Amino acid sequence: MSRRHTTARRERGGSVRAMSTTGPDASPRTPLRSSYDLVVAGVKTPAADGATFDVAEPATGARLTTVAQAGKADLDAALSAASDEFETGAWRRTNATARGKVLYRVAELLRERAEDFAVAEARNGGHPIGNARWEANAAADVFEFFAGATNKHYGQVIPVQDDGLDVALREPVGVCGLIVPWNFPLLITTWKVAHALACGNPVVVKPASLTPITALMLADVLLDAGVPPACVSVLPGPGSTLGNRLVADARVNKISFTGDSSTGAQIMRTCADNITRVSLELGGKSACIVFDDADLEAAIAATPMSVFDNTGQDCCARSRFIVHRSVYDDFVAGFVAGTQRLVVGDPLDEATQLGPMISEGQRRTSLEYLEVASAEGARRLCGGDATGTGW
Ligand code: NDP
Repeated sequence: MSRRHTTARRERGGSVRAMSTTGPDASPRTPLRSSYDLVVAGVKTPAADGATFDVAEPATGARLTTVAQAGKADLDAALSAASDEFETGAWRRTNATARGKVLYRVAELLRERAEDFAVAEARNGGHPIGNARWEANAAADVFEFFAGATNKHYGQVIPVQDDGLDVALREPVGVCGLIVPWNFPLLITTWKVAHALACGNPVVVKPASLTPITALMLADVLLDAGVPPACVSVLPGPGSTLGNRLVADARVNKISFTGDSSTGAQIMRTCADNITRVSLELGGKSACIVFDDADLEAAIAATPMSVFDNTGQDCCARSRFIVHRSVYDDFVAGFVAGTQRLVVGDPLDEATQLGPMISEGQRRTSLEYLEVASAEGARRLCGGDATGTGW
């Protein structure tokens, strides 16, 4: 996650309860659709081979919905349509201001449907509903930003020594393969899709298998706003096969990936074979440093959520503290007290600040790390066991 996002979320910190009192009534545990199709070049369709997979609700562990699982034929159809569209140039030749207006409409529709997106993100991603509402509106902000950016990508005139003219033009890159993780499914999809479309590129999105719902919902918004159908494909399916094929396909001109560092390294190697452009956003290990002259009260107030927001599943979550010895005891006491006050619960409960971990596997991994830490001499000052009825 980017530094800009960290700051915005920090500013929001502490407003979780305030949002809950001014937002809509508590969202019911409304069912999402019982099944979801793929979106292949703007068309909702089952997988060509009929494959599906179940998606779980992290808060309960129960099946949430069933999603079509894209295979080779679906990927092929999406990429052929996207590369044909790019060749003919309908979207990239649409004048930049008009493209911006379409993206502005995306932002408007996202705001109109923000509560649907929030409930879906809370149920599929386990995000507390107050956070999920903020994320849905932040997704609209991203499209608004790029709506304004479409006609502000200027070229350059470069001075040359001899008589002559050296001009650098910015052109769309082509088909963009966008691979998204499960921790911020809507926002990270938005960060990748909005830029690509703003610059005139078709997108093929591969959401995380654990959290495909809001990316599929976003496809509806894009199409309703007027993005050409061939520019919009969302293909849920396994990263190890579908994701790998997407990265390796020569029709893809750019890969953007967020996720595990070892997956990123493998993707970079594959991209090298086709000389495909690639952007990677991988794991992080962020330190929080508290100096002896720090405003201790402010540090204590800010730090619990800097660690535990999104149940700690955030690549810029603070994962260690370096504290000056003169304020160490006071800081630790305040941090522990603040952490104990955090409300763990059902993501749809307006009071909840920490929802479930994304999956049983992640919960097990986290508990194992606690065991490792204890074995290496760490002292537990609070928590340490799985909480609640979910994962
Ligand atoms: P992965 O890297 O496995 O998954 C991220 C995305 O990549 C998913 O859509 C996944 O699909 C897809 N994918 C997996 N393998 C391939 C492949 N070979 N080729 C193409 N796409 C692939 O991350 P995890 O979800 O397993 O998370 C593991 C760790 O990664 C976390 O614990 C965290 O440290 C880090 N991470 C960092 C994030 C960040 O924001 N920087 C976000 C999420 C994770 P599928 O879901 O089907 O496996």
